[in-house]
Amino acid sequence: MKQGKLLYSGKAKSVYLTDDRDTLIVEFRDDITAFDGGKKDTLKNKGSYNAGVSAFFFEYLEKHGVKTHFITMLDNHRMAVRRLQMIPLEVIVRNVAAGSIVRNYPFKEGMKLSPPVIVIDYKDDTRHDPMLNDDLIVALKLATPAELKAIKNAALAVNRHLSALLAKQGILLVDFKLEFGRQGKTIRLGDEISMDSMRLWDTKTKESLDKDVYRFNKGDVMETYNRVAGRITNTAPRRAAPKKKAAPRKKAGVKKLAAAKTKKR
Ligand code: 5GP
Repeated sequence: MKQGKLLYSGKAKSVYLTDDRDTLIVEFRDDITAFDGGKKDTLKNKGSYNAGVSAFFFEYLEKHGVKTHFITMLDNHRMAVRRLQMIPLEVIVRNVAAGSIVRNYPFKEGMKLSPPVIVIDYKDDTRHDPMLNDDLIVALKLATPAELKAIKNAALAVNRHLSALLAKQGILLVDFKLEFGRQGKTIRLGDEISMDSMRLWDTKTKESLDKDVYRFNKGDVMETYNRVAGRITNTAPRRAAPKKKAAPRKKAGVKKLAAAKTKKR
């Protein structure tokens, strides 16, 4: 497949046309942003961690009956996807209160939300992604009532499958954001599912394992992404930098060394 013209460039991903009109290429760049682009950095390998985790989740979800845009990985930071007509909604599923709902509503951080709470925002940075409700979504003709139902059902299915999968790795799926699109009449999950779009906590320690590390300067974000990508895909974390001569023998020591060598912002 041949990569063609740039179709769209977002804050962390670029989308290219290909020689097949129904297929696009999504490139996960090394850029990271927070607060509507108010904080920005470029972090080596960040794109490939998010691409790898997204691909892993998309394949897992497809196997469990969730329709996604994923076709295949082309290299460690580019994936071929089905071309969708994207719907400008940010569909957020919350299992535990954190982030904006704690700031905006009288929820205590860490409070369990059962059943999970779905919040849908209008994807529009110029308006700071305002929250919508079903009537607004239909009145704005963003989705029909039937599409909205399909979107919510798919979001809850993603939540069930990924919560169970992550729990096995000792990770609590606090919340996450999804985006959907249409391929003809079919609603498919698009965009990405990665550490940039999820809130993940270590089940025992409640340590943040996601973009909150970057948002709130909680530590070395690349060391966290390296470690969590390994935990999610159940593979050994990749070394962030070449090996030093006298590497410590103990496993924990090796991990610490990799962390120390990961480039700091
Ligand atoms: P909150 O509303 O608490 O800021 O975000 C809820 C969840 O949705 C978090 O996991 C957050 O990472 C994700 N999320 C919300 N808005 C965006 C966005 O514009 N981009 C990305 N990548 N994730 C978002």
